[in-house]
Amino acid sequence: MVAGEIGPLVESYRTHLPELAKYDGHGNHIEIRFHDAYHEAGRRVWAAGLLRRAAEAGNSFEQANLFYLASLEGEMGHMCAATCTTGFVRVLRRHASTDLKDRYLPGLTAGSYDAAVRGAQFLTEVQGGSDVGANASVARDVDGSWEITGEKWFCSVADAGLFLLLARPEGSTSGTRGLACFVVPRTVEGRLNGFSIRRLKDKLGTTAMASGEIDFDRAAAELVGEVDAGFKIMVTAMLNTSRWMNAVGDVGIMRRAYLEASNYAAVREAFGQRIADFPLVRRQLAEMKAEWLAGLHSTWELTSLDEAIDTEAMGGTAADQGEVGFHRYLVNANKLVCSLAATEVVRRSIEILGGNGAIEEFSVLPRLLRDAVVYEQWEGTHNVLTAQVLRDMGRLGLAGTVVDRTATMLKGIADNDLGLVADRTQTVLEDLSGHVARCIEEPEYGALHFRSLLERLLRVHQVGLLLKAAEEVGLEPFEQELGAAAELILGRYLESDYRAESDPRFEVLVERVLGSDLD
Ligand SMILES: Cc1cc2nc3c(=O)[nH]c(=O)nc-3n(C[C@H](O)[C@H](O)[C@H](O)COP(=O)(O)OP(=O)(O)OC[C@H]3O[C@@H](n4cnc5c(N)ncnc54)[C@H](O)[C@@H]3O)c2cc1C
Repeated sequence: MVAGEIGPLVESYRTHLPELAKYDGHGNHIEIRFHDAYHEAGRRVWAAGLLRRAAEAGNSFEQANLFYLASLEGEMGHMCAATCTTGFVRVLRRHASTDLKDRYLPGLTAGSYDAAVRGAQFLTEVQGGSDVGANASVARDVDGSWEITGEKWFCSVADAGLFLLLARPEGSTSGTRGLACFVVPRTVEGRLNGFSIRRLKDKLGTTAMASGEIDFDRAAAELVGEVDAGFKIMVTAMLNTSRWMNAVGDVGIMRRAYLEASNYAAVREAFGQRIADFPLVRRQLAEMKAEWLAGLHSTWELTSLDEAIDTEAMGGTAADQGEVGFHRYLVNANKLVCSLAATEVVRRSIEILGGNGAIEEFSVLPRLLRDAVVYEQWEGTHNVLTAQVLRDMGRLGLAGTVVDRTATMLKGIADNDLGLVADRTQTVLEDLSGHVARCIEEPEYGALHFRSLLERLLRVHQVGLLLKAAEEVGLEPFEQELGAAAELILGRYLESDYRAESDPRFEVLVERVLGSDLD
């Protein structure tokens, strides 16, 4: 369905972007107008059950798989809405009163696009995106009912039926502690609920979806959770969900970019031969594939942790404390590395298609590139994620959890050949952990150096995951592919003294990663 139906629909609305049209010719309020094909694609995404599965904990893998498949098509027009709605559902499931749940969850988790209510999340204000504590929107308690007044600067899914936003109740403290979390319905008794869309943003990527700037003027709102817990609720239930799904999307983008490039290389000829037979092209493809496999494994581990934590939050089996700490680390570090990798992989894929790679009607790649760059900024920029992990490592002692978990995995590799790679990786981990400890002890050193260390720390973990998977699968040719991908990542990013040109096995490594993909 993704390739045969959603793909062509996306292509048909690619150049017909949402428009702000407050009224139709009969004076009916419409606000945002989309191409019919956009809604057709949405019907298919919703019918697949992506949001239905959000209704209960324990479905993270099923949701991730559907999200991944849709991301192969670069369908961010609906994937953003699906992400925001999933986070919204979790916020309500975990923190809302029974009354709020009863009224809103059935619509948010409906399987039919036409019947469904979609959710949006508005944190960012013009003076502060990363610095959410600078939020200035005010919540006023009027005779026991809340009203929101203020401006939200980045409002994706501006056509959503329900908005989840942060605002500061009058008289509460400054910073993030003074923020409360509210549900704001789009309409109350059939009329727009105290807001107006100033304009839609003209964006680099995710263009099929409407992102607006919205002014709220005494919009009726309903409080979710404790009045001083808004920021915590948003981060744990909403942002952590978005950061996880963001990485799932990145992995889907990488997979599609690799497929485009490898298929093209297998048929395109230059100078009398297939370009897939040029060693430079083979190396480039192998590096792209290794990157995708690494992202896939760390994101699937994150999905497993996400499922455990969501299950615990809903009163199910308790996640163990090591898992909780590691999830806190992985959700941020993995988003950082996967979103950087996605942009890089798409860019290299475009290079393999040459001039055709830059043409919109030739392949999905230009759209994937634009979306990948937006993924990098969304839900926490790289530096902000880095700063958060460093804070968590200092405050919560997470560095030990992270290093121990990775080291245990590496030491558990029993296979001889894979074990040699694991030993090399362990040496890198030991070196890194010394620098990480220094970052925690010396804040100025950490503020300057931690980001590159964090990227490497996450990659060390990815190498461990690939080796473990290679050992578990134990099946040719997959074992070879996964083991070789681990080794390629190790040499390319982690071992400072590794030089591909001095490695007599490098060519074999490239071939093992590629397997039979280019035959
Ligand atoms: C297409 C799109 C859709 C969006 N949709 C939504 C939405 O629906 N809802 C919503 O709430 N937001 C949304 N956003 C906003 C997005 O989440 C923010 O843009 C993002 O969080 C960054 O905030 P900012 O733009 O204010 O950047 P800033 O916070 O101003 O950051 C600018 C630069 O400074 C760096 N920086 C900031 N703090 C630090 C620090 N402590 N240490 C080191 N460097 C730092 C950042 O890394 C970045 O490079 C959207 C953004 C885009 C592009």
